[in-house]
Amino acid sequence: MTDGRMQAKARIRELVDQISHHDTKYFVEDSPEISDYEYDMLVKELRDLESRYPDLVLPESPTQRVSGKPLEEFPQVEHKVSMLSLGNSYSPDELKEFDARVHKLLGPGERVEYVVELKIDGLGIALLYEDGVLTRGATRGDGRVGEDVTSNVRTIRSIPLRLKPEGGLRNCEVRGEVYMPTDGLRRLNKEREAAGEPLFANPRNAAAGSIRQLDPRIAASRPLDAYFYTLSYTEGRMPSTHEECLERMRLSGLRTSPHTRKFGSMEKVLEHIASWESKRDGIGYEIDGIVIKVNSISQQERLGYTSKDPRWAIAFKYPPKQMTTRLVDIQVQVGRTGALTPVALLDPVQIGGVTVTHATLHNEDEVARKDLRIGDMVLVERAGEVIPQVVKPILDKRTGSERKFKMPVKCPVCGSDAVREEDEAVRRCVNASCPAQVMERLTHFCSRDAMDIEGVGPALVAQLVDNGLVKRASDLYRLSPSDLKDLEGIAEKSSRNILDAIHASLDRDLARVIFALGIRHVGWTTAAALAGSFGSMERLEDASEEELSKTEGIGKVVGESVRDFFANSENRRLVEELRRAGLRMEAPKSRAGPLEGKVFLFTGELKSMGRSEAESLVSSSGGKVGSSVTKATDYVVVGENPGSKLAKARQMDKKVIDEDAFLRLVGKK
Ligand SMILES: [Zn+2]
Repeated sequence: MTDGRMQAKARIRELVDQISHHDTKYFVEDSPEISDYEYDMLVKELRDLESRYPDLVLPESPTQRVSGKPLEEFPQVEHKVSMLSLGNSYSPDELKEFDARVHKLLGPGERVEYVVELKIDGLGIALLYEDGVLTRGATRGDGRVGEDVTSNVRTIRSIPLRLKPEGGLRNCEVRGEVYMPTDGLRRLNKEREAAGEPLFANPRNAAAGSIRQLDPRIAASRPLDAYFYTLSYTEGRMPSTHEECLERMRLSGLRTSPHTRKFGSMEKVLEHIASWESKRDGIGYEIDGIVIKVNSISQQERLGYTSKDPRWAIAFKYPPKQMTTRLVDIQVQVGRTGALTPVALLDPVQIGGVTVTHATLHNEDEVARKDLRIGDMVLVERAGEVIPQVVKPILDKRTGSERKFKMPVKCPVCGSDAVREEDEAVRRCVNASCPAQVMERLTHFCSRDAMDIEGVGPALVAQLVDNGLVKRASDLYRLSPSDLKDLEGIAEKSSRNILDAIHASLDRDLARVIFALGIRHVGWTTAAALAGSFGSMERLEDASEEELSKTEGIGKVVGESVRDFFANSENRRLVEELRRAGLRMEAPKSRAGPLEGKVFLFTGELKSMGRSEAESLVSSSGGKVGSSVTKATDYVVVGENPGSKLAKARQMDKKVIDEDAFLRLVGKK
């Protein structure tokens, strides 16, 4: 080995260890020791060395989190120790019975301690570490055989690729829950809505759907996190208590919950459960119950298992946020991409403090699978502050007068054929100039996160389309005062404001223009990634599928969708007309902005702009946007109705600023 090569090898080892250490500090312990800039410099140095010496890349290198090609399917793997489910309980009485059974089996007078954990609504996962290095991540599956999702598990930044030696775990298997925080889900759903994709019904589906993505790059783009709660196997001595297992996992760099408590009696456990019922909405992720475990491992072993559950642990489930109401009708909406979506119209009902009148039914298969009929009494659920769902019909309440729903095969708006392609759950109106689609596309184009044309909402768009003034987005830029003069309810002054607002949108950046085009699967973040890596609309238009798939954050599906969009001559014509109208088709040259390296956090609603616009202002000025208050946070921007982050920010003595101050910082005021 040459000297340079030896030095590189040693330095790579050093950098991997340092970066892993900082990852734990940042993602697991919420207490970073260095600035994001210093961190980025370490990663950059590592990447440079690795590209010069590709054969020296370590498997646990943080640069290898997203790696490997998309899979055809997930290999099946057998668990080292079966992953059993827990028995469920729904009332204090059932827990008292559980406690009595434990005491009876262990013998009278024996002291029992219970460790009590939050039950997160996510996806169970088992990680295998060999010589301290993460070698396998698997889903629970049927408990005996699960799916090997290692390449996706590696993309979760809070999961250590190598365990820290402090915990004394080298060859072991640990279990935990992969979940999607509420904020992340809300953002992802918003993005999916904008990209014309179906929304996730709840955090569990979102986590499961993300970890089961065949393309690790997609999994990497999803806001996933994980907590660990079981040491199922370790080489050498097993700790004597569950509490110690948790502590050793924590010392090894695995993220463990700060809300775990230990109690000496079931009475105390019940008080704790009661106190969490009201607290559970404010912790940033969805929990559906509490898990109670006997602390002593030797007691656990003596208690053993029934045919399906351990006798030393039980889950307590909180009542779900569900209500019954009548399904009055099923309406069919036509979206921007022509997708027909059945929507449940409900008798208004209060669920968790919110009046629910509509619920999504996703697609026709879903309606058929649940056997929902118009007129049914139905169970409706709201989970994780997401859109309400119809869970099932109440069959006992059926009178025989209910009607089956049939998905129309013609578009309910324009009457064209609505076609369902193979491998698709969705039926789409084939008519690209379908008024419903045109309306939705234009409304999307003008929306706050896209071209942000104030005053041009769904109502005005409908008027413009109905009067034949606008057929496509580029027509907006040709409108004259006389065009608007005859529209109902538009005074001269407001027509001038509308034209000014349209004109002002010429100033929007390339990312917004790309997003505004409404390409399927291209949400806001994707649009920003495309603008960043291609730099101009022209280059994006001519990008090959291969170039697209090499772009960071862009998967195969998105790449194909972008290709398809620009392969269509109508779409190319639209882009050409927008170019002639004077829209920005180039990304600004990057430069160090005034907020270089500063970390911002937003809570509450801003008056003058949407969240994504505010975030893009931060990033275009060189700053970064965080998702929770940490030591690295520099500014917390508070809008109306701020959430719990404000209290945390005050507690941590962070610089809290209002919207005006923020606008001044980014030079908008
Ligand atoms: Zn149509």
